[in-house]
Amino acid sequence: MKKKKSIAAPRLLRGMKDILPDEQQWFEAIREHVRAFARDFNFERIDTPVLEPMALFVRAVGDDTDIVQKEMYSFVDQGGDHISVRPEASASVIRAYIEHGMVNLPQPVKLYYFGPMFRHERPQMGRFRQFYQLGYETVGDAGAVSDAEIILLGERLCRSLGIMPRIQLNSIGDENCRPAYETMLKSYFRTHKAKLCETCKHRLLKNPLRVLDCKETDCVAIAQGAPQAVDNLCDPCKKHFTQVLEFLDDLGLAYDLNPKLVRGLDYYTRTVFEYWSTDERFGGQLALGGGGRYDKLAEQLGGRHTPVVGFALGVERLVLLMRELQSYTLPAYEPDVFIAPLGDQARKKALHVFDALRAAGIKVRHAFTKDGLSAQLGLANRYNVKYTLIIGQQELLDETVMVRDMVNGSQEVVGFHKIADDIRKRLQKAKNASASAEEHHSEK
Ligand code: AMP
Repeated sequence: MKKKKSIAAPRLLRGMKDILPDEQQWFEAIREHVRAFARDFNFERIDTPVLEPMALFVRAVGDDTDIVQKEMYSFVDQGGDHISVRPEASASVIRAYIEHGMVNLPQPVKLYYFGPMFRHERPQMGRFRQFYQLGYETVGDAGAVSDAEIILLGERLCRSLGIMPRIQLNSIGDENCRPAYETMLKSYFRTHKAKLCETCKHRLLKNPLRVLDCKETDCVAIAQGAPQAVDNLCDPCKKHFTQVLEFLDDLGLAYDLNPKLVRGLDYYTRTVFEYWSTDERFGGQLALGGGGRYDKLAEQLGGRHTPVVGFALGVERLVLLMRELQSYTLPAYEPDVFIAPLGDQARKKALHVFDALRAAGIKVRHAFTKDGLSAQLGLANRYNVKYTLIIGQQELLDETVMVRDMVNGSQEVVGFHKIADDIRKRLQKAKNASASAEEHHSEK
């Protein structure tokens, strides 16, 4: 006999991961919070495609950024178009805003998203090549109150997930004041050029702001003494930043003024911020997400002048923290009843009963692949259900179901067609009883 050649099973690509059911629960919890916060803060959902014209990111994020230079997945498709897999979503949201004439809607237009982003980065803890971001954008308002609302939203969202973020805040000015500041930075860094890392030597030519953000030890030390953006803002930018700070102070939101915070992308103006976890288990400084103002982005993309403020949070990082810090309890699914059929014929009926109960809004568990009453009752106990519905030979003949009360062990026969109604009434009765017992207790 010919020996079958073994072939290696295809594996995950480096930096990619499967999100298995266990982890999905955490994603789902975050999604629900994201939806609830969107509703409360009046944001509407937008989904944009994963594939976009490469030019979108080159123009929005910046040709000279790490994302565009090194991390973007790009290709030429069968039709000869230059396409990129999105590394972030703000550029797409603004593209959609322009493309769909949202400028004609009452402003600001408040949008949120939740979806996968792709960056060819070196994988490490909390860093993947496909990762999820959630983000909120307030499009069409230049006021400091929108900055404050957005910063508040992100902070409260993290808190609701059991994570206490530290807000890092800075202003990097706009096209009026930034050029002079950049010149100042260039001349400062030039005096230390010999000690800068090779990347920063290059950054110095095109974007000296980014040297402030470098993690190399020597660059960090040099950046320490660099002139600060907030000391060099023009009057309108200074006024805007002061107002943002006043709003945050008034809310009692703590923040750190961080002169080295510049964010990586070209489209930022004025306010920039990040949310950090300062937990020692994650090195004392793990960025959960960040954002700021991008008042020039719409124009960069060929639209009208449209001020925007927004942020994105990394979902995998939130999940990592929620799990490790054990600061969030997943909502439990507590089934009300368990259905235990005995034999194949009963199983048919049981599926029917299951469907009727489910449609009546009753939470049901079963183990239809199991045989035998004791195994099924064992599971029912494990699920902690209030009732087990047993369908045996006699019940099949009588068109009934045996309702077993799992607390006191009493059993009662109920007609097959009445079962959903009967269980609903029982559950309601139990609920009322426990509510009045609680009332009685609190009155005491
Ligand atoms: P950024 O706009 O690049 O600062 O990204 C915002 C947030 O997205 C970061 O703070 C991370 O939480 C998350 N994030 C960015 N890149 C990755 C990645 N490669 N893997 C996982 N999360 C990421």
